[in-house]
Amino acid sequence: MYQLKFNEKICASCRQADCLLKCQYMTFSGHKEAHGEMMKIMKGKDSRVLSECVTCYACEEYCTRGNHPFYLISERREEKGRFTAPRPITTQWINMTVMQGKYLVGDVKDKALSCCYIPELGPLGAGEIFKDVASAGVFGAEFMCPAVHTHFARMSVIKERLPIVIENYRKLGVKEVICLHDECYGTLTSIASA
Ligand code: SF4
Ligand code: SF4
Repeated sequence: MYQLKFNEKICASCRQADCLLKCQYMTFSGHKEAHGEMMKIMKGKDSRVLSECVTCYACEEYCTRGNHPFYLISERREEKGRFTAPRPITTQWINMTVMQGKYLVGDVKDKALSCCYIPELGPLGAGEIFKDVASAGVFGAEFMCPAVHTHFARMSVIKERLPIVIENYRKLGVKEVICLHDECYGTLTSIASA
């Protein structure tokens, strides 16, 4: 199983704690409280953040020190069974995004135009800026970003599926993926490297 790249030393010495201080969904009295909550999360202790975080991802941007607060919050939630949605909904999402070999691949050469698992995105890949890749569409669970599972605090599903998605692109010989779905872009540029 892949391990999240999270530098505990960087976090322990952080004088900003912007990850939580800038959060739009929780209020903290100042650095001491916000940093204290992050330290609790890091050490695997309970924190109100594990209940109150609405999974907006923004703290991944607020942390300017290269750590991954949101992915860590999501991992801790999963470890503690603090899920964000009722179990049937979480399970439904896991099941309906499972890879079943029902994917579509267009005339892909070195570039692919990803429609994720959202057919409505296909028509958006038209016009002048997409003229080189309009016929190189890929669609299906085999190419979708599993980032949606962060919203359900199921990072284990991402760790299992994302390497397969990347391998599927490799098998196509793709050197560049143009993502019509912003979460696909975030997955390939942020979650994959984390
Ligand atoms: S996650 Fe980033 S901003 Fe938050 S305490 Fe750690 S280093 Fe600081
Ligand atoms: S992901 Fe959670 S903790 Fe991070 S900014 Fe959004 S609501 Fe706040």
